[in-house]
Amino acid sequence: MTDLISELTLERSRAEPALAFSQLQLAEPLARAVAEMGYESMTPIQAQAIPVVLQGRDVMGAAQTGTGKTAAFSLPLLQRMLRHQSSSTSPARHPVRALVLLPTRELADQVAQAIKEYTKYTELRSAVVFGGMDMKPQTLELKRGVEVLVATPGRLLDHIEAKNAVLNQVEYVVLDEADRMLDIGFLPDLQRILSFLPKQRTTLLFSATFSSEIKRLAGSYLQDPVTIEVAGSNATATTVEQHFYSVGDEDKRHALHQLLNQRGIKQAFVFVNSKLGCARLARSLEREGLKTTALHGDKSQDERLKALESFKSGEVDLLVCTDVAARGLDIKDVPAVFNFDIPFNAEDYVHRTGRTGRAGALGLALSFVSRSDARLVADIEKLLKTKIELEAIEFAEDVPDIRRQGRINDGRRMYQASEQEGSRREARRPGSVRDVAREGQFARPERPAGRHHAPVSAQARDPFFDKPYEATLTDQAKPSWEASVTRPTARSISANIKPKRVVAALFKSG
Ligand code: AMP
Repeated sequence: MTDLISELTLERSRAEPALAFSQLQLAEPLARAVAEMGYESMTPIQAQAIPVVLQGRDVMGAAQTGTGKTAAFSLPLLQRMLRHQSSSTSPARHPVRALVLLPTRELADQVAQAIKEYTKYTELRSAVVFGGMDMKPQTLELKRGVEVLVATPGRLLDHIEAKNAVLNQVEYVVLDEADRMLDIGFLPDLQRILSFLPKQRTTLLFSATFSSEIKRLAGSYLQDPVTIEVAGSNATATTVEQHFYSVGDEDKRHALHQLLNQRGIKQAFVFVNSKLGCARLARSLEREGLKTTALHGDKSQDERLKALESFKSGEVDLLVCTDVAARGLDIKDVPAVFNFDIPFNAEDYVHRTGRTGRAGALGLALSFVSRSDARLVADIEKLLKTKIELEAIEFAEDVPDIRRQGRINDGRRMYQASEQEGSRREARRPGSVRDVAREGQFARPERPAGRHHAPVSAQARDPFFDKPYEATLTDQAKPSWEASVTRPTARSISANIKPKRVVAALFKSG
């Protein structure tokens, strides 16, 4: 096998992180696939992790989603596995040599698709197994033999127990989104799976955030790992502009309509905290004329994949989703993420924000903060180590009075759904603040809080990501909010709005 790294040391990759893929001397079939995917420069996690994985070292990587970590672990392990590739049809010539474990089906599917792309010019076989799907086709694929197996832990254990998957020749194991695997309660499953693997192996653990449990897991299963951290763990991407708006529950849908229009957003994820809220909000927005679909854990696998497809194809403009359902989805070019509800878990804010601004595209994360969210926002501040400043939304006057229309149409208020959805009703906070949480503030906590910064600028952007955002929609296919749609009525803005207040201080007094 070509020695990929020759003189490429970790130190060098740190010093010159904008290395081109061509400098890696990837084997031709991998290099061709990478070039076809349009990758030129390595992202920071790739520049740091690829040389280390090529050396066969264990890695503990703190990288948020959207940083290119799939290629960071896949390419070097595929390169090292090329020596095993075989055109033989005998299953014995295709044992599982690399195992990639992920917490959700969607994420597993996505990583498997990326690996299929990277290996398309090689003889290496890959497969994905996850729950919610018939075991039979997965079993057939496993019995044929695969070198790279991507799986969620529960389904993998089913296949191990059914003797469909034999893992005694595994050389690489990747635990991706390890923090979420622990959140979901996969620790016992993970421990069982790891007990089936040879002791002599390379283990790569990636996590957006590093809790003490993750460190413990790494301590027990990794050998002398190299720690790699990009953009700091518990950080949001520098390419994401983030705003927090003070909005009462009853005004959130109106705020959503207005921001979609004002900011010319083409497509967006809208995060909510509950499955019930997710379904209800999607229905309300659909009734209001926005092309919307819902993605939550109660949907069948088929419905979830269909919802994703319709968003990817641009058939729908808004994907209303819960955290578990949307975890790790790589949908390119999501221009904006709305936190319709502030997440209960501050770390989920980092994950949600990671849906936008992926691989260098500029992103927008817009969060709706109601009074009862004070503690949750404070948790986010603590995690990001920065002060969050609230902005008020001035609702435009010329929106149709939807409440009146609703009464005319069917004799009752159309938007009572919002009252159920929001679960917490509250009056618009009179002392809302208007200030701007500028791009970069979160990733650069050393900037003085409260200072106004220029909007996303070329300098502020991560130089590794220079791919411009390409909207999926054409002018002919405008998002539904650009057409005339029915919107919920805004309450007029309070006259008491104060010019500037810092959230932390505001909450202290509240
Ligand atoms: P990931 O963090 O692995 O989910 O990757 C996020 C997105 O970035 C995926 O769509 C990748 O195809 C893309 N990507 C990964 N590495 C690069 C790169 N070096 N240049 C451009 N895009 C990349």
